[in-house]
Amino acid sequence: MIHKSMGFATRQIHAGKAENSAGALCAPIYQTSTFEFASVEQGGARFAGKEEGYIYSRLGNPTTALVEAKLANLEGAEDALAAASGMGAISTALWSSVSAGDEIVADETLYGCTYSLLEHGMRQFGVKVTLTDLSRVENLKKALTDKTKVVYFETPCNPTMKILNIALIAKTAHDFKSDIRVIVDNTFCTPYLQRPLSLGANAVVHSATKYLNGHGDVIAGFIAGDKDFVGRCRMFGLKDLTGAVLSPFDAFLLARGLKTLDIRMERHCANAKKLAAFFENHPAVSKVCYPGLASFEGHETAAEQMRLPGGMISLELKADKAAAAAALNKLELCTVAVSLGDAETLVEHPATMTHSTYSAEELKAAGISEGLVRISVGLEDPEDIIADFKAVLDPLA
Ligand SMILES: *Cc1c(COP(=O)(O)O)cnc(C)c1O
Repeated sequence: MIHKSMGFATRQIHAGKAENSAGALCAPIYQTSTFEFASVEQGGARFAGKEEGYIYSRLGNPTTALVEAKLANLEGAEDALAAASGMGAISTALWSSVSAGDEIVADETLYGCTYSLLEHGMRQFGVKVTLTDLSRVENLKKALTDKTKVVYFETPCNPTMKILNIALIAKTAHDFKSDIRVIVDNTFCTPYLQRPLSLGANAVVHSATKYLNGHGDVIAGFIAGDKDFVGRCRMFGLKDLTGAVLSPFDAFLLARGLKTLDIRMERHCANAKKLAAFFENHPAVSKVCYPGLASFEGHETAAEQMRLPGGMISLELKADKAAAAAALNKLELCTVAVSLGDAETLVEHPATMTHSTYSAEELKAAGISEGLVRISVGLEDPEDIIADFKAVLDPLA
């Protein structure tokens, strides 16, 4: 039996149960598209919402329901909805919130595909999108109008690690108009490090592909929030608009990953802290962006709203684009790859990878220097991660 007063570790393991007549310790994978009704009348009652029960796996599935209950519990949300990817969750949440003529205010630093969804997708359908720097509350006040339906942001932001003050943004938006839905992408933190709903946000979205699953073998997402909103996302947004349904097998893997979330996050954060200290003192590095460093701009806000400073580090090498790329190519332990939150330390060079199509001016405008490197610090022994970076950075100094 799970009580609200129980600790995070207990709830990550025990919250959410799938129907399980054999008493299996690990919930079965309900690998089925549809569910049998005892009669046409029973099918009718389920469709009419008069009887609880499963109908079809796009509307609900016991294995998926288990991870939804787990995530809702950990985020302190009334309800949660699983999706086939982070983008499936984000697009479902946004399409469920606005109609043509409505407005969205979002921070200007966003995960690339979220940026594209807002900048190209939503605008194409008559939704006005204002992108601004939400770290200055004046910018938010200027952007809000009586048509604003959603305020959307991530914190820490990708890839600059900019920190946004969740409580301040939520209060400012709600003081302006109480029914504005403040949605926070909590992917970089997970509910172990940060709980936006407890700070005044209305909904949380996740790429569960990252830390929540944590093992690099699943693409998945979540929406968490109040029952009405999550219900609308489930029975309209996901069912009719996006169809981005999580598969039962991926839900099973997620349930397994979630059981160790807290100890993985503790280790990611402890390793990142050591690595950030190493980078801060290295002569080939001009700047380290890590919320745990006192020298980092968002340090104080991060300390207020995050339990620990996270496992992501961005740094700027003094080297130019070619020299930075050549150095990263020599890493032996760390892996050159996008994504984050896995057991393996992953290294990304935006100027040659995710942002390679940007001109020098566009890179500058996005705050991405040629020498910017983003690191998802893994779970390896920290001495080995540091030694790998030392070997390739020392010759640059
Ligand atoms: C990866 C990521 C997404 C998109 O998630 P997918 O699971 O890849 O669709 C959204 N937001 C953030 C912050 C991410 O890191």
